[in-house]
This record gives sequence, structure tokens and C-alpha cells, in this order.
Amino acid sequence: MNVFKLKSELEAFLGLQKKENKTIGFVPTMGALHRGHLSLIESAKLKNSLVVVSIFVNPTQFDNSDDLKKYPKPLENDLKLLKQVKCDVVFIPDVKEIYSKKITSQNFDFDGLELEMEGKHREGHFDGVGTIVKKLFEIIKPDNAYFGEKDFQQLQIIKKLVKKLNIPLKIIGLPIYRESNGLAMSSRNSRLSEQHKKAAPFIYEVLRDTQQRFTSKTPKELTLWVEEKFKNNELLQLEYFTIAEEETLKTTENIQPNKNYRAFIAAYAGNVRLIDNIRLQ
Ligand code: AMP
Repeated sequence: MNVFKLKSELEAFLGLQKKENKTIGFVPTMGALHRGHLSLIESAKLKNSLVVVSIFVNPTQFDNSDDLKKYPKPLENDLKLLKQVKCDVVFIPDVKEIYSKKITSQNFDFDGLELEMEGKHREGHFDGVGTIVKKLFEIIKPDNAYFGEKDFQQLQIIKKLVKKLNIPLKIIGLPIYRESNGLAMSSRNSRLSEQHKKAAPFIYEVLRDTQQRFTSKTPKELTLWVEEKFKNNELLQLEYFTIAEEETLKTTENIQPNKNYRAFIAAYAGNVRLIDNIRLQ
């Protein structure tokens, strides 16, 4: 496994690989890797000659400095896991290598996708995501890039970014990897207290219940029902629940037969913010 900290060295290495017509699969991460990340890498391995994983906790996508400060950074363990899944290349730049002197975001227009859900609650988040992903795509020039549906809004935004900027690569979205109790795997789960760890699978239970009721209740009724369920849960604070159409991510009132919908939740378990979503059919 080749580990690079400098983009010039990574670019030189990948340039040689490209000359040999090797295809590159790319998995961007913020580290603190879990099975969810590894499932993306395993999918990438199946379709590409070479898999590049980046580990970079991107400061410009955090609107909460405490969340940024407390973001877990178990680098040794991450490298061990990456070796186990036979990752080919790891890119671990420091902040200066990516941002030079100015740690700022570019402003993007994602046709309104950035204004929904996470965009309403995390100011500047998707400008930060767009900025880092664009920079990484420019350095790595992958053929395929892999993202999890765990961050479904991010996935749709990256697809939009690539389309609008005509970046020649394919974006592949992959399903959410869960603990056996249903909790969506997340690097932030390691910050949950024992009590909150036990409470957190409630989020997926509610999503499953929503999925089951989807054909017999309206989105409005379901939303009120979920809000009520959270009010009765002392350990989790709901930030938002919404049923939105997959392409526009706009909250929907009227279900149309030829469109796809998802239910989305953001909730706090103590001071840890968790998100999850489920496809509705
Ligand atoms: P992160 O390190 O949280 O920025 O995540 C890096 C990539 O892994 C993103 O594309 C995430 O959507 C994806 N990811 C995170 N958690 C999961 C999960 N539980 N299942 C599948 N993909 C995930």
C-alpha cells in the first residue's frame, strides 16, 4: 500500500499508472474508518485496477468548531484496516497541502439541492464539501468515485457538481451499512455515551416504521407522527424529519407514482449529531 502526504508525489505516481491504462477508483473519507467505508472500497476494488482512498478532515465543511475539534483521528487503525482490504493508495494530506494559506470554500450553485435539509442546518456545509471534492478530483482524476447513501444529499450534490462542471468521471452511490441493531455506521458513533449508543437505533426503527406506513399515510401525517415519537424519547432530540423526492430533495406533500422518495432524519444523541435515511416504496 502506497501512502502519500504530498499531492505532487501522488500525482506523479498516478500519472505513471494512467500511462499504463490503469483505471482509478476513488473513495474520499474523513477517516475513523468503519465497515461502511470499507464496503465502498471493496466495491471500488471490483471495478478498477487501482483504488485510492483519501483521509482528510475537511475544515471548510464544519460549521461547528467543536465537532471539527472532536472529530476522531485514529490514523494507525485506519491504515491497518486499509491494508486489510488491500487498498492500493492512501492520500493523507495536511490542511496546508490542500488549502495553501486560505482555508475558504468556493461558492457553488447546486440548483437548490444545497438549500434543503442539511443545507438549512449546517451553514456553508455543501460549499465546503464541493470545494474539497472538486480539489480531490482534480488531483486524483479518478475514473470512478464512490459515495455512500448514508449522506444521500451529499451524493446527489456530487452528481450535480460533476455534471455542471463536466468532470469526466462516474459517481457511484452505495447502500448504507448498518450495525446489527440498525444504527447506521458513522465515525461519530464512537463519540456516543453508552446510554446514547443504546438509544440511537431508535432512529432506524422510526425510518422502518415510516417505510411500512408510507402507502397508507400522507407525508404530513407521517411527519407529525415521527415528531410525536421523538417528543416521547428523552435521549434523542429530533432536528428534522422530512419526506423528500430523491432528485430535487424537496419536501413533498403529494406523492407521484413515477418518482422516488426517501425519508430523512437528523437527530442529536447528547451532543452527537446523527443522520440517516431510507428509501420509500
Ligand atoms: P465520511 O468519512 O463520513 O466523510 O464518509 C466517507 C464516505 O463514506 C461518504 O461517501 C459516506 O457517505 C460514506 N459512508 C459513511 N458512512 C457510511 C455507511 N454507514 N454506509 C455506507 N457508506 C457510508
